[in-house]
Amino acid sequence: MAKIKLEYIWLDGYKPTQSLRSKTKIVDSSKFSGKLEECPMWSFDGSSTEQAPGGSSDCLLRPVFICPDPARKSAYLVMAEVLNADGTPHESNGRATIADSADDDYWFGFEQEYFLWDPETNLPLGFPSNGYPRPQGPYYCGVGAKNAYGREIVEEHLDICLEAGLNVEGINAEVAAGQWEFQIFAKGPRSAGDQIWVARYLMERTAEKYGVAVNWHCKPLGATDWNGSGMHANFSNSTLRNANSRKVFEEICEKFASKEAIADCISVYGADNHMRLTGLHETQSIDKFSYGISDRGASIRIPVGVVENGWSGYLEDRRPNSAADPYKVAAAIIRRLQS
Ligand code: ADP
Ligand code: MN
Ligand code: MN
Ligand code: MN
Repeated sequence: MAKIKLEYIWLDGYKPTQSLRSKTKIVDSSKFSGKLEECPMWSFDGSSTEQAPGGSSDCLLRPVFICPDPARKSAYLVMAEVLNADGTPHESNGRATIADSADDDYWFGFEQEYFLWDPETNLPLGFPSNGYPRPQGPYYCGVGAKNAYGREIVEEHLDICLEAGLNVEGINAEVAAGQWEFQIFAKGPRSAGDQIWVARYLMERTAEKYGVAVNWHCKPLGATDWNGSGMHANFSNSTLRNANSRKVFEEICEKFASKEAIADCISVYGADNHMRLTGLHETQSIDKFSYGISDRGASIRIPVGVVENGWSGYLEDRRPNSAADPYKVAAAIIRRLQS
């Protein structure tokens, strides 16, 4: 009987940054046609992932998203959320922090930045083991062997994401050597989060094939003049998309401005974000809040296209970092929009 591989993917319980885990379940092809409803609940040893004590170690995996796995024979990727043994959401489950009322009217486009990382030198691809490559300037959207490092990995990742049906909207080389970005857009916060996590998983696995690691940290080169990595969150709801009003945009930006709002957002916008949100390198300081048209030094940028469209469209929260959980980021933005 033909067999099918289901790769269950979930997030572990490590703090402050959760990592991807996965394991394979084999099912009979006669019982499986690729639908999410056909994926059984499963469980794992939570004591090995900081999610449960050894004496009572089982955590549950509830499938939430499925897509084909183009890089493996007869295979699918199954994103799962982690539940406690009694079926309640585990405290590490960011997806469950999205308000029940948050429907597909909320659209998200995440710009995921990351570094391809040489595990031997513990430096980005393109960095010599001693010293530094040429300073920033030629790398952003650059081409050529002295400017672009790891393109074969990035291209392979893009192809398998598209084949899997993930809604990647674009990729580009970023400002630092060895730094890249992909963008994923979805109508609905859960779908956006599911797809970012699956795309991160596929990036890890593609790079692994080349003996290359992925560094998701927001400032992997520390307090140097090298850019950090963000995960800008572009968002809209029908109010923003149909606003036709500068006032509506400003009122929504103001919902992000109070001390409490800033603290709520920053608490889920990724670990070590104070290292990245310094006011330099196209960021606003972590303790300040500002918004502005076309302003890449603001917390929230109003894209110039919004003004050109007669004040309708979306906003870009530039603060979430590359290691943030997109579920928790979307949940926080929706809390602000609903406030
Ligand atoms: P930049 O690098 O200039 O900040 P990108 O092109 O990398 O911009 O990313 C812009 C993102 O905005 C894309 O992922 C896109 O899907 C997203 N986006 C566009 N329109 C909307 C919208 N109405 N709601 C939410 N996101 C949107
Ligand atoms: Mn971008
Ligand atoms: Mn970018
Ligand atoms: Mn951006």
